[in-house]
Amino acid sequence: MHDLDYLRLLQAAVEQSFDAVVITTAELDRPGPEIVYANPAFLSMTGYPLEEILGQTPHLFQGKATSRPMLDRLRAALEAGKGFSAQTVNYRKDGTPYDVEWSISPVRDEAGGITHFVSVQRDITAETREHERGQMLVYALDASSDSVVITDRDNRILDVNSAFEKHIGYSRKEVRGKNPSVLQSGLHDRSFYQRMWDTLDQGNVFRDTFIDRQKNGQLLHMEETITPVRNEHGELTGYVSIGKDITERVNAENELKRLATTDMLTGLINRMHFEKILSHEHDRVRRYGHPAALIMIDIDHFKQINDDFGHPIGDAVLTRFARLISEHIRATDSFARWGGEEFMLITPDTDEPAARALAEKLRRLVHDTDFPEIGHVTASFGVVPLAEDATPEQTVHRVDQRLYAAKQQGRDRVVGDD
Ligand code: GH3
Ligand code: MG
Ligand code: MG
Repeated sequence: MHDLDYLRLLQAAVEQSFDAVVITTAELDRPGPEIVYANPAFLSMTGYPLEEILGQTPHLFQGKATSRPMLDRLRAALEAGKGFSAQTVNYRKDGTPYDVEWSISPVRDEAGGITHFVSVQRDITAETREHERGQMLVYALDASSDSVVITDRDNRILDVNSAFEKHIGYSRKEVRGKNPSVLQSGLHDRSFYQRMWDTLDQGNVFRDTFIDRQKNGQLLHMEETITPVRNEHGELTGYVSIGKDITERVNAENELKRLATTDMLTGLINRMHFEKILSHEHDRVRRYGHPAALIMIDIDHFKQINDDFGHPIGDAVLTRFARLISEHIRATDSFARWGGEEFMLITPDTDEPAARALAEKLRRLVHDTDFPEIGHVTASFGVVPLAEDATPEQTVHRVDQRLYAAKQQGRDRVVGDD
């Protein structure tokens, strides 16, 4: 190809380039290099018409925010005949600043002398803003007291924030690339996760309370919102999960619930809660026809114990009595303090004869047990089945009658249906 043709092609390429190109003389002493060429991208970046910058020096574009140390390094590089690249702030004709990234290299003649400098530049203001915006978002996330987990579309953790590190105890480094299942406590069943994925797969936000496990093994109640994130083409790019630590609230609620359902002295179920269990058990009997029985227990001559040994010893006997019975019944039985020295026991899946046998076993147990403070006590027992057509009130009334009969017949005995 003819040299001139080749040059024309090169010129066409430079004229069309998206990057700004400016060429100066190699004059480094004052007043400095003179601009001999600038392409259209350079003109549109700086806002100057060509005729206004030809013959000028690139000082024209510098200003208050232009980095002085960078200019010194530039000058040193050019004096040493080397290329240089950097980022700084330059100014348009209208005085507005822009972030620019550029590289500059010396052009030599055949004898090796530097004749020109060619500089290729790019306005990176938008990128810089985007980067700064990203930086701000990272700061905002880290300032948040809610824990944030960002995962990719394969549900691998891309990033977590500082609150996550604090709540869960894992560092960013430890969880990056992992599946969030590392946090699972094992306390949710499969259907919980099934429901979560069904919701997310439909593109919906999933909200629920998760019980997570911290790095140290402790459980954490997190109120979580998981959002599937899509790009502008509608393709799933990942998930953002935001969680609030509500462990303290849940623990406080559980403690309140416990207090509301527990008898203070013995730690047994209290009367109010027992009435609910009894009603529920009647429903089960009616619905499934499973047998169940109610046993009422009353300590004999308890008033005498108080009178002889004092009320505090009476309390200790009640506590000991409650523990003794609790240790000899099934986990599925419900044992409650009905009031004073009266107790109730529901035995599910137990017919009346079996319940009577259990009552007899417990009666003997009490009879044979040594109560350190007072020696021996006895108790009387009433036993009734939970009839399908009876209300809880009727059942309580009937068992109370049986207990009364046991007292009448001399105490330390079990009375059931004859
Ligand atoms: P019975 O054999 O007929 O059941 O005689 P009893 O003395 O056990 O029956 P009564 O119902 O007349 O007395 C129950 C006593 O239990 C009266 C009350 O002072 C005492 N008592 C009720 N609640 C408590 C308690 O929380 N602590 C103590 N120490 N005593 C209680
Ligand atoms: Mg009583
Ligand atoms: Mg009594």
